[in-house]
Amino acid sequence: MSTYLPAALLSSLQGLPGFEQSAFIAVHEAGERVTSLRLNHAKLQAPGKTEAVLEALSPAAPVTRVPWAQHGYYLPQRPSFTLDPFFHAGAYYVQEASSMFLEHAIRQTCDLAQPLKVLDLCAAPGGKSTLLQSVISADSLLVANEVIRARAGMLADNISRWGAANVVVTNNDPRDMARLPGFFDVMVVDAPCSGSGLFRREPEAVAEWSPENVALCCQRQQRILADAWPALRDGGILIYSTCSYSKEEDEDIMDWIVSSLEAENIPIPIDPSWNIVTTRSDKRNCEGYRFYPDKVQGEGLFIACFRKTGGDTWQQKKQRDTLSALPKKDREKLQPWVRDLDQYFVMEHQGEAIILPPAVTAAVAVLQQQLYLRKAGVKAGQLTAKELAPDHQLAMSTLLPPTIQEVALTLTQALQYLRKEDPALPVAMKGWALMQYGQMPLGWAKILLNRINNYYPKELRILKEI
Ligand code: SAM
Repeated sequence: MSTYLPAALLSSLQGLPGFEQSAFIAVHEAGERVTSLRLNHAKLQAPGKTEAVLEALSPAAPVTRVPWAQHGYYLPQRPSFTLDPFFHAGAYYVQEASSMFLEHAIRQTCDLAQPLKVLDLCAAPGGKSTLLQSVISADSLLVANEVIRARAGMLADNISRWGAANVVVTNNDPRDMARLPGFFDVMVVDAPCSGSGLFRREPEAVAEWSPENVALCCQRQQRILADAWPALRDGGILIYSTCSYSKEEDEDIMDWIVSSLEAENIPIPIDPSWNIVTTRSDKRNCEGYRFYPDKVQGEGLFIACFRKTGGDTWQQKKQRDTLSALPKKDREKLQPWVRDLDQYFVMEHQGEAIILPPAVTAAVAVLQQQLYLRKAGVKAGQLTAKELAPDHQLAMSTLLPPTIQEVALTLTQALQYLRKEDPALPVAMKGWALMQYGQMPLGWAKILLNRINNYYPKELRILKEI
């Protein structure tokens, strides 16, 4: 018997595909910590950058690849991410490896070359959203939604750090999505769940597990899916996942989806060497995929894919909703700050300039009318009468031109900067400068005659001492 896994959980898992009690208990008791992350390839285009980031993360031993994610890696040891400036530069997202399987699921079910509108309904803190952003095309739009306000803030920070312009962060209840009938091509529902899949990583979460909570989670999962369902277009793709092993939240939800919503299950090919377990639902024979930590290098996960077979297709109204464009004279102030500015739409919102790909502006205009937008695109900065005061989002973005003045920091200086101290730097320049570490931007500083003002956002600063 296990010293900490609930007996009621273990007995409820008996007979489920792939469940082997002794191996399952042993892997939990061993408490091994698997560390994995996904690189942000959009920020690592220059030759040697990927290698530099991986070398800094694991100088002594080689990293290995996560088989189902193009930019996913396992680290042999867990470094201090807080004290790695590349983490703060958005060079990677620390993500549990099983979750990265979403990449395989979306590649198998969607034509990612198309411009897609993708909703990540339960998105905070942003692991799956950053992955989705990396696989969709530049003229696609990702809507990363989180219902809990404080968590939506965390999600917005992680999305900003990721640096892409084709993302909107919303803070809405799933039922609000019904205002957008047939709007989305893809909907990812990484549902709140009883969380047993994370018990190896977070043994303290075991105390919150109970059969009653599994039943409550199952009800809530149905409600979330039913509430948001109208927003998926006819023929659109639903990807449903949990980090629970419980059948009530996994196979039974698959049955509920095809019985209660107009949907068909989509099986996807799985490489047998991955050791992912294929499972089927009792009533409708739907196929889903189970990840067990005694079989894969990752935590517990369940995932399944569906196609909607009815419902609405979004009718775009003749630009009744439009975004307010930044006036031409102000737009000129942005020229030195944004690479290929002509290729972007610049929106004006409360004195700030916000950059969006033109392909997504009609959709963003609709969202602005219907949902609470926490963040859209990349905020370039505040416009004053004379200039643009650049925003941290711009420093984190992939939009910066190579002509911006930069200050290369050492590791010690980079950590001082990230703690919001003012590093004493003998620099012979004036004005706004991008603070960089290993050629990756960390944020802005304003260099004056005899001092440097650190513009790193206070709420993001490192509090931890070495
Ligand atoms: N997708 C995220 C990621 O990969 O980083 C993790 C999402 S977590 C499993 C589930 C999320 O659902 C949490 O952020 C939680 O706040 C949110 N949530 C909780 N109750 C909800 C509800 N009733 N409707 C929608 N989302 C809810």
